[in-house]
Amino acid sequence: MKILVTDPIAPKGIELLKKEFEVDVMPEISYEELLNIVGNYDAIVTRSRTPVTTELLEKAINLKVIGRAGVGVDNVDIQTASKKGILVCNTPGANTIGATELTIGHMINIIRTIHKTHNTIMDYRWERHSFMGTELFGKTLGIIGLGNIGSQISIRAKAFGMKVLAYDPYIPREKGDRLGVKLYDDLDEMLAVSDIITIHTPLTHETKGMINKERIAKMKNGAIVINCARGGIIVEWDLVEALKSGKLYGAGIDVFSKEPPPKELVDAFRECKNVSLSAHIGANTYESQENVGIIIAEQVTKALKGLPVDYLVNAPFPDISVITLLKPHLDLAENMGSLAAQLTNEGIKKIKVEVMGDLAKNSKPIVSAVLKGVLKTMIDYPVNIINSTYLAKDYGIEVEEVAKEDSEDFKHYIKVIAYGDVQEKVVGGSLIENHIPRILQIDKFFVDVEPEGVMLIFENKDMPGVIGTIGSILGQANVNIAGFRLGREKKGGIALGVLNLDAKVSDDVLEKLKRIPQIISMKQVIL
Ligand code: NAD
Repeated sequence: MKILVTDPIAPKGIELLKKEFEVDVMPEISYEELLNIVGNYDAIVTRSRTPVTTELLEKAINLKVIGRAGVGVDNVDIQTASKKGILVCNTPGANTIGATELTIGHMINIIRTIHKTHNTIMDYRWERHSFMGTELFGKTLGIIGLGNIGSQISIRAKAFGMKVLAYDPYIPREKGDRLGVKLYDDLDEMLAVSDIITIHTPLTHETKGMINKERIAKMKNGAIVINCARGGIIVEWDLVEALKSGKLYGAGIDVFSKEPPPKELVDAFRECKNVSLSAHIGANTYESQENVGIIIAEQVTKALKGLPVDYLVNAPFPDISVITLLKPHLDLAENMGSLAAQLTNEGIKKIKVEVMGDLAKNSKPIVSAVLKGVLKTMIDYPVNIINSTYLAKDYGIEVEEVAKEDSEDFKHYIKVIAYGDVQEKVVGGSLIENHIPRILQIDKFFVDVEPEGVMLIFENKDMPGVIGTIGSILGQANVNIAGFRLGREKKGGIALGVLNLDAKVSDDVLEKLKRIPQIISMKQVIL
């Protein structure tokens, strides 16, 4: 497998990758050059410099993994990557301390104007009295985004004697309690009482332009704004205006909507009294870079080896670690999806997955695995549990997920219902004794079948001699029967038979079998 490193990564990370794979390191490669060669690689490792666009992904015909050395993935087209089944992993937390300490640095720089007094001395001037500042002690800090970095900021701010507030609609309230931080439901309310506001969210459609003219107007007069998260969260020209008018006392900015920032913006900042700027260096510490390099190398290695990845960005369910734990259930669910799809003779409109018992809390990965099984029978495209939900939507399949703690006789049970235009097919299954995969239900019939290889599934009138006739036709065709299971409604009614075969049956033989008078329907299924 070949890996292309398109941005500077710590040598320790590259060494780790080279132990297992062929690695090309091109930290300054241009986008155009990358378009030409990306098709040769199984994985790319990037930082924020490389735009991983739809155009690039279309050319990346062998790409399986995108490793983003860092946290923000706004340079990666996650949706296209997900549809293509490409795993996107990153390194959350690896540069948390670097970004946290830089944020605190900007805060102190602004309140004590260290950068300005430095400049005067370098200008051979000694101005002790021009630089009066304020103190962090007793001030109120408003944190937008109480994730890894936001939390670390809160701990340090408390050590400085600050009162700490936060706005983050996506975290549980207990997190605020644990950190001793007052959580606000309304961002504007928090802004109105904060002396310093610091942003630590990702750049999303929600956060883009979140701090604009209107929001700044709601801040305290003389407030300070810090952004060491992502460019674009603050509308820069609105910030400049507020700094020039004196509405804001100062701003500390490490990230810009366009990097490097255009000359006009830099000129505008030069005219503002109190700005502390840095060139996107939040993660530029030796410790952070080494952490990021090692962690991304580990993630990409795991992903390429098919092992569970710790920091997967585009999994359709939050806790990726469950994949290892659930592996046998996921395999069964995939086979059940495939079986249900193959038994449905028409285009599938909807898939309903009922996940019962102790599996109910993990219904999402089970649904993804069922969809993978369904889609594999329909499309000639690599499907995995990352892209199966996206692809199902693309192919117009409605998905219904039901999670029930109650599973009657079983510890865990999965039921898949595939709906065509007219008919629906039901497949139920479970892991017997926690490890033996079994199909236990097909439509209204209860069976006990190993979901593996070639299977003949048929409905017949429950009369003597049917199985013998089938056996002799298969024998003449030299196809060995590996297993047989029967389910029936009642004696003399309709029965459902499942034969596990050692080889595939030809179309001619299948036609012959279907012509047996007692046979109502017959389908060959391959898992
Ligand atoms: P994180 O994922 O741990 O935390 C982000 C937090 O933002 C989460 O708690 C999330 O719930 C919250 N959030 C998301 N949308 C929100 C919204 N609309 N309003 C309020 N909160 C919202 O990420 P992190 O590791 O703490 O990183 C935070 C930011 O810092 C990211 O954008 C990351 O890319 C950036 N970063 C920058 C540098 C740098 O060099 N300047 C270095 C590291 C990280």
